[in-house]
Amino acid sequence: MAKTIYMDHAATTPVAEAVAQKMLPYFTQSFGNPSSIHHVGRANRAALDNARAQVAKALGAANDEIFFTSGGSEGDNWAIKGVMLRDVNRGKKFITTNIEHHAVLHTGAWLEKHGYEVIYLPVNEYGVVTPDVLEAAMGEGDTALVSIMFANNEIGTIEPIKELAEVAHRHGALFHTDAVQAIGAVAIDVKALNVDMLSLSAHKFYGPKGVGAMYVRKGVYLENLIEGGAQERGKRAGTENIPGIVGLGAAIELATENLEKNAAYLTSLRDDMIAQLLEKIPHTRLNGHPTDRLPANVNVSIEYIEGESMLILLDQNGICASSGSACTSGSLDPSHVLLAIGLPHEVAHGSLRFSLGIHNTKEEVDQVVELLVKIVERLRAMSPLYHA
Ligand SMILES: *Cc1c(COP(=O)(O)O)cnc(C)c1O
Repeated sequence: MAKTIYMDHAATTPVAEAVAQKMLPYFTQSFGNPSSIHHVGRANRAALDNARAQVAKALGAANDEIFFTSGGSEGDNWAIKGVMLRDVNRGKKFITTNIEHHAVLHTGAWLEKHGYEVIYLPVNEYGVVTPDVLEAAMGEGDTALVSIMFANNEIGTIEPIKELAEVAHRHGALFHTDAVQAIGAVAIDVKALNVDMLSLSAHKFYGPKGVGAMYVRKGVYLENLIEGGAQERGKRAGTENIPGIVGLGAAIELATENLEKNAAYLTSLRDDMIAQLLEKIPHTRLNGHPTDRLPANVNVSIEYIEGESMLILLDQNGICASSGSACTSGSLDPSHVLLAIGLPHEVAHGSLRFSLGIHNTKEEVDQVVELLVKIVERLRAMSPLYHA
């Protein structure tokens, strides 16, 4: 098989070598439970504190505003259920958008099943949630919480989070953002943005899978999602995933230190790839915002063919990409995000997402484009829909 070209970093990233090295001692040597009284356990409290400080620094938060979780899905569930299940919020609304990750959308559906009113805001053709749309929805009834993602995982659109949080606050609601795709891509300062909660996940920025963190602004009270021991100041039970947490801390520090350099590099690769695809493949459109988008995100619809067919042929040539959301592959439903920006079903079906990474090169971009041009020609020649 051809050499692997991995362009699916929005699904997951490899763990950075330096991060993996920092994690290793915590599996076999410094394995203690930080809650233990003895020295083997106590030794790990410092590692926990250090990682918490690394996450706090990366976000502009205080150390005691950071809670470790098992990843983005848990953080999203916790923020939403933790606020909505409070007695004081009984009968109040939850507002989110129709382009969220399923961790938010399905939590919204869970709330509806349990009798809550949930509003899913529409987006414009670029996938932007405009503050006036939120403003209009806030007008009716009492809203406890608004949750809007920082940047979309499929089309890469970056949302105006500061303005949206401002609208929510003006109407007395709390504001949560799923920033899983934004860490390492967009500079984040939770105080400047004035968000109340923010969730993130290590495996999207060259850290390990199964570990994440939540920022919860001091003074915001959340019900617990997971009951048990007194870990995380009694807010999130379970023996801490020390190797994972150490990896998360190291990865967020690395991602933050290199953010500008990485973003500049990825943006140039991205724009080159987009320009080539639009120029070399007829009947191709870019999905998402042309400029307010993640530096690593390329999402195009290639008309008259199926995204899945292209993916299989790309994979046979060593190239890893995705059609819409990784979570919905295997299903025949077109991506909810592509439908939300107004694409007809058949166009949504012909969509591909390339999410670039810091190890991708200009040569790889050229190689992928060249191959995709041939794949599209081959598939269109067989397509009953296409008359060139
Ligand atoms: C990957 C992802 C999640 C889920 O994170 P996990 O750590 O895999 O649970 C949530 N939201 C967005 C936007 C994501 O890209």
